[in-house]
Amino acid sequence: MSSSVQSVWARCLDSVSREVSGIAFQTWFQPLQPVSLKQEGDRVELLIELPSRFYHEWLDQHYTKLLHDTVNGVVGRAATVAYRIADRDETQAPRHETEDAAVVRRLPPSPGRNGSKKRQERVQNPVEPRPVPVQYAYAEHPLQKNYTFDTFVEGDCNRLARSAALAIAQRPGQTSFNPFLVYGGVGLGKTHLVQAIANYARTHGTTQKIVYLSSEQFTAEFVRSVKNHSIAEFTRYYRQTDLLIVDDVQFFGGKEKTQEEFFHIFNDLHQRNKQVVLCADRPPREIAGIEERLLSRFQWGLSADVQAPDLETRMAILRKKAALSGLVVPEEVIDFVAQRIRSNIRELEGALTRLFAHAKLQNRTIDLAFAYEALSDLLQESPKHVEIEDIQRMVADFYHLSPALICSRSRKREIVNARQVAIYLAKQFTTYTLEYIGNFFGGRDHSTVIHSCTMVENRMDVEPAFADEVNRLRRSINGAIS
Ligand code: ADP
Ligand code: MG
Repeated sequence: MSSSVQSVWARCLDSVSREVSGIAFQTWFQPLQPVSLKQEGDRVELLIELPSRFYHEWLDQHYTKLLHDTVNGVVGRAATVAYRIADRDETQAPRHETEDAAVVRRLPPSPGRNGSKKRQERVQNPVEPRPVPVQYAYAEHPLQKNYTFDTFVEGDCNRLARSAALAIAQRPGQTSFNPFLVYGGVGLGKTHLVQAIANYARTHGTTQKIVYLSSEQFTAEFVRSVKNHSIAEFTRYYRQTDLLIVDDVQFFGGKEKTQEEFFHIFNDLHQRNKQVVLCADRPPREIAGIEERLLSRFQWGLSADVQAPDLETRMAILRKKAALSGLVVPEEVIDFVAQRIRSNIRELEGALTRLFAHAKLQNRTIDLAFAYEALSDLLQESPKHVEIEDIQRMVADFYHLSPALICSRSRKREIVNARQVAIYLAKQFTTYTLEYIGNFFGGRDHSTVIHSCTMVENRMDVEPAFADEVNRLRRSINGAIS
């Protein structure tokens, strides 16, 4: 595959990721594979491979216009988007179709770069979609090939999760980390890490049947199997896995029937030492709407969090991504981007992709001035930032205490209260790790930090006066850094 189709697609993904929710992006866009970018005279055609027909239906119903406009925007002229469906079922008869026959739907070129807002679709070359040969075709959620341990940068923010993941990949089902639950905020590498397990297990042959999918897909399939009266088949399929990875399990919340089915599958797999790996966007006990017995099972093995990366890790990630793209980015630009984009790794990556794209389009070298210009709209964050000491001081002043008391071992109620608030705000306003923050508060460990944050969040939900205090503090910290 030429690098130009890859880079065009990378830019499309970057743009789509700004338009749709994170989960929609992961579910519907990340699994798509760019195949070719053909140019004939004025016409450009981007061919994309979809994991299954189901994707085709879904994209068609929900994202036709978005995809179309995005591709036009990126290519800079009228382009056609064509789909083909991946041939993943090995039991299927060999394909005789030409590539063109496998293209199931084409979208016409848009009338102009910005297109008209009106839906402009029209079917050209309507070739009947090939029937999906296996019942659970879209359970075979394809893995991102580049989500490996090699491309995953280790830092304080993810060390435990990464080393546990590697141990699991080497000996699925044979460590005490079963299930293995990775949790943490959006864009911090959970999906990358758990797919690295699958990719490793696949390449090194450490286990047989590997299935990766999101809890939403699991739910959708379950619902479908109920409708089709094929629950037994559904269950059998999952019970046959040796390594089952379910991403974003928080979406099981409130789906009782699906949870029940998953509970039985989980028990069965666990009993037979099959590896289960789960991801969630928050600690298990904070996931709402999940039955207690399932929650407790989630915590049987090992739960490890991934945190926002610190500056050093952000720089290491940027260096790695630049190197992987074969581009030279001066260290001062790496430093600049890492200082300014702190929230999550996906945004960090987005900034770098943007830099590359602009540099290429404008034929410019990437230097500091260029980075500033190209990323100006992403850089609303203040270059100044707040340190934990500042937060401790502000909270201490607010409650008429001293910072030393906040960090002391005192269990007096008003001191514990101030300490928890300060810890919570330190977690919110800095990108330091839980360990680092805990250390700053009189050598406490990461579980104290998690506990404090949970306490504060819970109290804010039910005590308006307390929520008001925290918000006033938040505003004064905001004021101090802008
Ligand atoms: P999550 O599932 O936590 O929302 P993802 O795994 O989708 O996050 O990560 C978002 C993006 O950031 C991905 O492109 C991923 O490759 C990248 N990424 C996350 N963590 C790291 C890391 N430690 N090293 C390199 N890339 C990372
Ligand atoms: Mg994810």
